[in-house]
Amino acid sequence: MSTDSEGRLHLAIDGPAAAGKSTVALGVAQRVGLTLVDSGSMYRAVALLSLEDDVGTDDRDALLEIARRVAASFRLELRDGETLRVYLGEREGTEDIRAQEGGRRVSPVSEEPGVRTEMVRLQRCLVEGRDAVVEGRDIGTTVLPDAPLKVFLTASDEERAHRRALEMEEKGIRVDRDTVLREISRRDEIDSSRAVSPLRPAADAVPIDTTEKTAADVVDEIIGMLADKGLIN
Ligand code: C5P
Repeated sequence: MSTDSEGRLHLAIDGPAAAGKSTVALGVAQRVGLTLVDSGSMYRAVALLSLEDDVGTDDRDALLEIARRVAASFRLELRDGETLRVYLGEREGTEDIRAQEGGRRVSPVSEEPGVRTEMVRLQRCLVEGRDAVVEGRDIGTTVLPDAPLKVFLTASDEERAHRRALEMEEKGIRVDRDTVLREISRRDEIDSSRAVSPLRPAADAVPIDTTEKTAADVVDEIIGMLADKGLIN
């Protein structure tokens, strides 16, 4: 098996909001037996705690303190091999970190360089010595620049809004497609234009447009790439 410099198989999956990263990363993790790291859930945890502590998105020191708290207590658990649960110490935050209010705040909070430094360190720490798939925005460019396979998932705006709206409706939340589209576009805009590690494909990332594909198709495609590179048997 060919691997990165530490001798581990690291797969980086990046892309804009609702492009299918989480579903695809979970599918690949299950098939290949990789540790799954959802980096967005870390930034969402920082956004949640900043709301609960009433910390403004421009209060750098307080955000850094929260990021350190998240880094010290964050844990991911893949329950029954199916659902990725997020813990902050003893507290389960899986649902809370996805509440709408925190969702609006996550991109502004993620712009803060100090927060990013803490989260990148945490992500590297979670994959150290492990075969892993990490999904996010800057995994291929910043977090794991030596990953032997990087993919960048995209989908049309309409398809992404449709998928996100379905996801929310499955949770019993009724949403308007236009509002969903506005919110993900706003996040993409902030994520793509920030100064530190913006959302961007790495030079050596393989682009995959998922608009017309099922998640299972994309998982198969990535497994094929891993096999072609001799990363899995
Ligand atoms: O992946 P998810 O949509 O949960 O990410 C939520 C937000 O976290 C993104 O919109 C982005 O602002 C931030 N994020 C980031 N870098 C990452 C992952 C997520 O800035 N690697």
